[in-house]
Amino acid sequence: MSASTHAASAHEGARPMFARIALIGIGLIGSSISHAVRRAGLADEIVGSSATAATRQKSIELGLVTAVFDNAADAVAGADLVILCAPVGAYAAIARDIGPRLAPGAIVTDVGSVKAAVVRDVAPHIPAAVHFVPGHPIAGTEQSGPESGFAELFDNRWCILTPSADTDPAATARLKLFWERLGSDVEVMTAEHHDLVLAITSHVPHLIAFNIVNTAAHLARVTDSEVIKFSAGGFRDFTRIAASDPTMWRDVFLNNKEAVLEMLGRFTEDLVELQRAIRFGDGDTLHRQFSDARSLRRGIIKAGQDTAAPDFGRGRAAGADVAGVSEEAVKRG
Ligand code: NAP
Repeated sequence: MSASTHAASAHEGARPMFARIALIGIGLIGSSISHAVRRAGLADEIVGSSATAATRQKSIELGLVTAVFDNAADAVAGADLVILCAPVGAYAAIARDIGPRLAPGAIVTDVGSVKAAVVRDVAPHIPAAVHFVPGHPIAGTEQSGPESGFAELFDNRWCILTPSADTDPAATARLKLFWERLGSDVEVMTAEHHDLVLAITSHVPHLIAFNIVNTAAHLARVTDSEVIKFSAGGFRDFTRIAASDPTMWRDVFLNNKEAVLEMLGRFTEDLVELQRAIRFGDGDTLHRQFSDARSLRRGIIKAGQDTAAPDFGRGRAAGADVAGVSEEAVKRG
């Protein structure tokens, strides 16, 4: 059921775009949306749902929502914008629960890191009078929970929308404006294209980080603390990426299987080429490959998606889904 207080107003002057926004899941992304919505005055009211009492309590204390429910169906009643902010593996059950309670004319969107599986799981439960426009803000940190959000998370980051061919263009345009007012640039593409691009720019890099950290962890038993002591040699950056939420990432890989396997296959082939170059002392190949990689990094900086600071972005409040190697390649330019 619900706790309900009036901790904060979502409307600070400007004309709000929505009367009532419902956040289903109030973690890093949900809480950041709340901060950014209130900063821009985009809603009269923000409500939320979470199954965990501690999250509900924290959300009220932090003023993220004015009312919070322990189930999604109660939270969406009367909302004109519903944003699914839970791990994507939970979406099918959430969509089934909220379907009958959605208000006619409402927009349902999400922030999930995969898109084709979200369309598959959610679309069948959305009534004809409700607009479903899937989305994915390419912004995040390795932190989780309602305390981890901040209003600037989406500033100058891309948000990708993946409406289907029969989505009402007016609903897509309204959601595009919403994300722009949260600080993002918006691009529209198909769900399948999104999944392919994100497989190489975010999903495979995370998989590599999880794997290399575990490989080193096994070695650490042999070499005592040397892995930690000398981690600034590059390993440290992988550990930050690998600290990302395990549930979220489990669901990403279970739900973007084909695109990840395709990109992992290409990655493995390229890795074998490097392995052969090292084995046979082929310095030309190594130099060419490293030069190509370096120029891609320069392209990201030129596009304004990271700074040239020598700390590889360390010290900044937020990055993309991972450090500089993550989803940057889909940014402008
Ligand atoms: P988070 O901080 O872990 O928050 C997840 C929220 O979902 C929590 O409120 C949690 O509730 C709720 N939740 C978990 N399991 C649920 C279930 N089975 N049913 C209903 N609610 C459930 O995660 P996040 O980083 O905000 O990620 C949320 C979504 O954003 C994911 O779909 C992810 O793919 C996407 N995303 C993440 C990033 C990123 O960098 N983190 C970037 C872009 C997009 P409790 O607190 O009650 O457990």
